Amino acid sequence: MNNIVTRFAPSPTGYLHIGGLRTALFNYLYARANGGKFLLRIEDTDLARNSIDAKDAILQAFNWVGMDYDGEVVYQSQRFALYAKYVERLLKEGKAYYCYMQKEELEANRKEAEAKGKVWHYDRRYRDFIGTPPEGVKPVVRIKAPLEGEVYFKDGIKGEMRICAKELDDFIIARSDGVPTYNFVVAIDDALMGITDVIRGDDHLSNTPKQIVVYEALGFPVPRFFHVPMILNPEGKKLSKRDGAMSVMEYKALGYLPQALLNFLVRLGWSHGDTEIFSMREMLELFNPNNLNSAPSSYNAEKLLWLNAHYLNALNAESINAILPFYGASVPSVVVQEVLYPEIKERSKTLVEFVEILKKCLNPVESFDKKMLQKVKTDENIHFFNAFIVYLNTLKKPFQSAQDVEVEIATFADFHGLKAKNLFMPLRYALLGSSGGVGISSLIAALGINETKERILKALESLRYAKSIGNETDSK
Ligand code: GLU
Repeated sequence: MNNIVTRFAPSPTGYLHIGGLRTALFNYLYARANGGKFLLRIEDTDLARNSIDAKDAILQAFNWVGMDYDGEVVYQSQRFALYAKYVERLLKEGKAYYCYMQKEELEANRKEAEAKGKVWHYDRRYRDFIGTPPEGVKPVVRIKAPLEGEVYFKDGIKGEMRICAKELDDFIIARSDGVPTYNFVVAIDDALMGITDVIRGDDHLSNTPKQIVVYEALGFPVPRFFHVPMILNPEGKKLSKRDGAMSVMEYKALGYLPQALLNFLVRLGWSHGDTEIFSMREMLELFNPNNLNSAPSSYNAEKLLWLNAHYLNALNAESINAILPFYGASVPSVVVQEVLYPEIKERSKTLVEFVEILKKCLNPVESFDKKMLQKVKTDENIHFFNAFIVYLNTLKKPFQSAQDVEVEIATFADFHGLKAKNLFMPLRYALLGSSGGVGISSLIAALGINETKERILKALESLRYAKSIGNETDSK
């Protein structure tokens, strides 16, 4: 399809939530897949909020996930004069009118209707008013909604929507201070920006008929609409921060990869057979808003972790190196990258876990696990550590791989009449101070002979010290 123009139109809440990112992604995919345009508009008519920060926060998130937009950002706050012109035009054409009804009277009217159990509508008393307007009342401007027939549109997700004229109000398009209203400016902007397809949350469904009234009054073509159901938590309730409704950049801080997050989001509301894994290329190839689901989607934290582990596992060393500084780790030696990265990738689901394991492996042991110490502090292990250091001293060349280390440990064990498999727990104690981490042979290969010896020496000290204290206690 040609000439698709979509947009993302966030209200500046300060940062981008994942629900917003999903909406942006759907719009982005549809435009990009069709060689169209994806535009960004900041809906900042509420001037108390800071739109520049919001833009930066959105750009930061877009940048991280690798999404971009076309052209200049449109700020509604900079377009008041333009909106005023359209209010004028509608007034001139008799499609809008000043309404002088006071707030208090409106309120009283509404309460009265509600008390009778009726749905309240403004009674349109100023629609065809000719005469002298009441003095001292600053009027609002209302649009003339159709009195008969219906507003019809075919939503790409919800299907045919028909809204009876009876249900429509002559709603306000400009307040008494001249500030235009939400639905009015959205329709004008979408029309002027040439938006062909509006993909947005279905919390906006009830706004659409009003926006269509504006399009029609101004003779603008009505775009296609896709109202996407909400993302719910596993209990079927609105997503809270605890469930994952947090800033996109918090996902980065928690160690998620943008590929995983986008893949996760595209599946919240859209599917292609049973496939779960979609690269950006595949999303662009396959995404079509007409296949968006009409049922709400459910946020599944386990699935996000699973996807993240998948994408983490697929990262090459270069990509990992580029990411490490953000998580406070420096890029290790090539040997470490070659020997440890594959193992750490397998053992971690997030980059935070990855860095934790990497640091555990590379940082000197700070403390030894007490329970492990109780098991390890035997005379046999003291002999073993000493003998192993002597053995390491005889080695002429550095280890190239975990296999090299395994061969040496086996040779050493044979020579001393020991069982190789019994040596790994004490070695883990010596090299890491506790359980967890990576395979011991890989770790030795990565650390090299000198660091391995140093750690074993330190562990020996801890064993001797523990034994001396133990002896003192015994002798008391
Ligand atoms: N500004 C609205 C929001 O952040 C979106 C409006 C629209 O997409 O039409 O929810």
